[in-house]
Amino acid sequence: MASPYLPSPEDLGTLLTDEPAYRSDQLREWLYEHPVLHAADMTNLPTTLRESLSGSLWPFDAEAEQSSDRGTTRKWLFRAPDGAAIEAVLMGYPRRATLCISSQAGCALACTFCATGQFGFERHLEAGEIVAQVAYAKAFLHQIGMPGVPDRLTNVVFMGMGEPLANYSRVREAIRRMVDVMGMSARSLTVSTVGIVPGILRLAEEPWQLNLAISLHAADDELRSSLVPINKRYPIAELESAARRYFEAKGRRVSIEWTMMDGVNDIDEQARKLAAIANRLEAHVNLIALNPTPLSEERPSSRLHIEEFARILASHGVTVTVRDTRGQDIDAACGQLRVMAGNRKAAG
Ligand code: SAH
Repeated sequence: MASPYLPSPEDLGTLLTDEPAYRSDQLREWLYEHPVLHAADMTNLPTTLRESLSGSLWPFDAEAEQSSDRGTTRKWLFRAPDGAAIEAVLMGYPRRATLCISSQAGCALACTFCATGQFGFERHLEAGEIVAQVAYAKAFLHQIGMPGVPDRLTNVVFMGMGEPLANYSRVREAIRRMVDVMGMSARSLTVSTVGIVPGILRLAEEPWQLNLAISLHAADDELRSSLVPINKRYPIAELESAARRYFEAKGRRVSIEWTMMDGVNDIDEQARKLAAIANRLEAHVNLIALNPTPLSEERPSSRLHIEEFARILASHGVTVTVRDTRGQDIDAACGQLRVMAGNRKAAG
């Protein structure tokens, strides 16, 4: 039997041809509402069905699992049957648990400082492969848990491998299942994009109050195009107007992501230009120190420099957060996800 996450929840009956009709409702509840790590835990299903599901519940194998930050950060490397690697990172806090998921294996957009981009594109993930990452983390929190962290998944961010708006239809279907079937609030989900303008405009027309994060990283086209090549196709002015449209359609404040790179985008002039953009968009700015990656020379800005940059933004009336980095020691931090078949970085 194929993984029950691959058909849509409404089509589960097609997997269960010899079972009474109510079985597909029971199975849907186990998959989406109260996910469990093993089919054996699906207590109201007959043993024969549990056994036939047991080797194929997930559309991937959990090949490796690493933990850091005293057990409150966990990274999974899931491996699909065709060899594609899918990484997800769960970050636990006293009042919330946020899962960072992948939407593609690899990425085609080649941002210079991002490890995934440095290793190229493998393939799009299916909706079922995206949503299964969420179900797995939900099951993990509920059945195993993290010290001092709620047993419930509260937030999901599309900030793992891949560009969600370059895999629009499958990401859309995954979001539909999270909201309509799992019962998650769209307000607890964040789509993060490098700035695919048509995708942002489409997302603005969807029925959900999703959070939108724009990975800006530079406030003029010359610098941005050198870091984020897709900027040549969708320059800052177009990106800004799409983000504005999203904000107006949803009434939800957009956030701007800015990875701080020493001597590159952490100079005062960039802070002033960024403040102007953020003010026009009424956007919140998140600063995060660069996590060094294997194929880039860039270094993170110093703590002092990041604080100075934040101070300039604040002095122009911008709300700004300096984000902490989780899981650096296990390559689970932003931009460090990059594992592909046969291309594992040696430990250390
Ligand atoms: N493609 C999407 C989502 C994946 S990247 C996007 O670009 O938004 C998630 C975030 O991590 C983005 O803001 C990205 O720019 C940032 N990022 C990438 N590489 C990084 C690195 N090495 N250090 C810190 N942040 C990085």
